Amino acid sequence: MSEVQVAGSMDDWRTFDIANPTEEHAMIRAMVRDFTAEEIEPQALEHDREEKFNLALFRKLGEYGLLGITVPEEYGGTGLDATAAAIVNEEMSYSDPGFCMAYLAHAQLMVNNLATNGSEEQKARLLPKLCSGEHVGCMAMSEPDYGTDVLGMTTSAVLQDDGNWCINGTKMWITNGVIDEAGTPADIVWLYARTGTTEKGRPEISTFIVEKGMPGYKGGQKIQDKTGMRASNTAELVFEDCIVPAGNLVGEPGNSLHHMMRNLELERLSLTAQAVGIARRCLAAMNQYASEREAFGKQIRDFGQIQRHIGESWAEYRAMRSYLYDTARRLDLSSGGQRLDSDGVKLFATTAAKTIADRAIQVLGGYGYVGEYVVERLWRDAKLLEIGGGTLESHHKNITRDLAKDPDVIER
Ligand SMILES: Cc1cc2nc3c(=O)[nH]c(=O)nc-3n(C[C@H](O)[C@H](O)[C@H](O)COP(=O)(O)OP(=O)(O)OC[C@H]3O[C@@H](n4cnc5c(N)ncnc54)[C@H](O)[C@@H]3O)c2cc1C
Repeated sequence: MSEVQVAGSMDDWRTFDIANPTEEHAMIRAMVRDFTAEEIEPQALEHDREEKFNLALFRKLGEYGLLGITVPEEYGGTGLDATAAAIVNEEMSYSDPGFCMAYLAHAQLMVNNLATNGSEEQKARLLPKLCSGEHVGCMAMSEPDYGTDVLGMTTSAVLQDDGNWCINGTKMWITNGVIDEAGTPADIVWLYARTGTTEKGRPEISTFIVEKGMPGYKGGQKIQDKTGMRASNTAELVFEDCIVPAGNLVGEPGNSLHHMMRNLELERLSLTAQAVGIARRCLAAMNQYASEREAFGKQIRDFGQIQRHIGESWAEYRAMRSYLYDTARRLDLSSGGQRLDSDGVKLFATTAAKTIADRAIQVLGGYGYVGEYVVERLWRDAKLLEIGGGTLESHHKNITRDLAKDPDVIER
């Protein structure tokens, strides 16, 4: 008989809710859902229109323990897991994926990475203010000429005789790179830079923590006129003979691949959670509208083509939600190893969210095409999820590589 892994006995497996596996997860969801309805929803339309980041609202997330959701309590965090991070991203993206993007860049891309990979001194000194919202963080990997081809990055860090590092280069597309309209740069940057070449002739990439006020660190231009995610700031960051003390190197020179790959799994999971939030909102909108709107003397939900939009959206939404929380359940933040599914679920769910948002616009007709009805904004926001945190094409590549390395995973 073939070997099939069976979970330990669980009396309540029939009532187990994969999206709210414990009481604590259900409570976080309820809290964020209320906060989203009361505080995030009312400001979403205006901040999208004006392309403005709501810094005051962002800082408030610290009061609720959300900015350090996966950070151990001893550093000011909430000490929860990947499922909790997914829940927060899903709930906030039901109303405002753009605002949520700023949250994700801070809490998952920067803060979680520091909590997992930073030294004791770095964590004790920096995490409390990042968890409270006093400091805003970002992660800087992409460059004007290098995105998917990340190892091609040209930003360089050179060790000086006095033990400090001197960093030169420009990073591009950095969410939270600037935090206001005056161009104030992020308080803390989790920065990847080239420090040499490995024995195998590959680029040696190292991780640095750059803090506001360090000489040579500057915010660059804010990128205007984005398709979506307009309530988060995206900017260039400039490092010009930027001097970073030895104590702000993370781990050893050349450790970045480890930091990047491990954290990318949480990043992809969190972006997928945004997709699920978008899909749920769009499905709710089209379902409600299909009962309210009449044409030819009937509710439009009686028309077969409308039924197809709703029926397919429901099935896809349920599939993406299950795959998301199944991946979250298995994602161990202290080690890598879930790339096959963090890529797989993002590949499926991001395009599904965009398609569901597109169907919602179609079901709402002309109303769907204007901002007040929300779904056109969610459609614009959903498109970013197919690009940021790895493009669809990079997921194709990774999945195919991983299945070549471990073909048996298909049978398990
Ligand atoms: C709003 C926004 C926010 C962002 N936030 C951040 C952030 O906070 N921090 C950060 O570091 N980056 C951030 N990014 C950058 C994002 O991660 C990159 O845009 C993404 O990785 C793609 O890189 P690229 O834009 O350089 O495209 P490229 O890598 O140049 O890709 C162009 C096209 O070529 C395809 N392609 C490239 N290589 C291959 C290949 N081997 N096989 C097949 N196709 C390939 C791509 O899939 C894509 O279709 C953000 C981007 C946006 C738009």
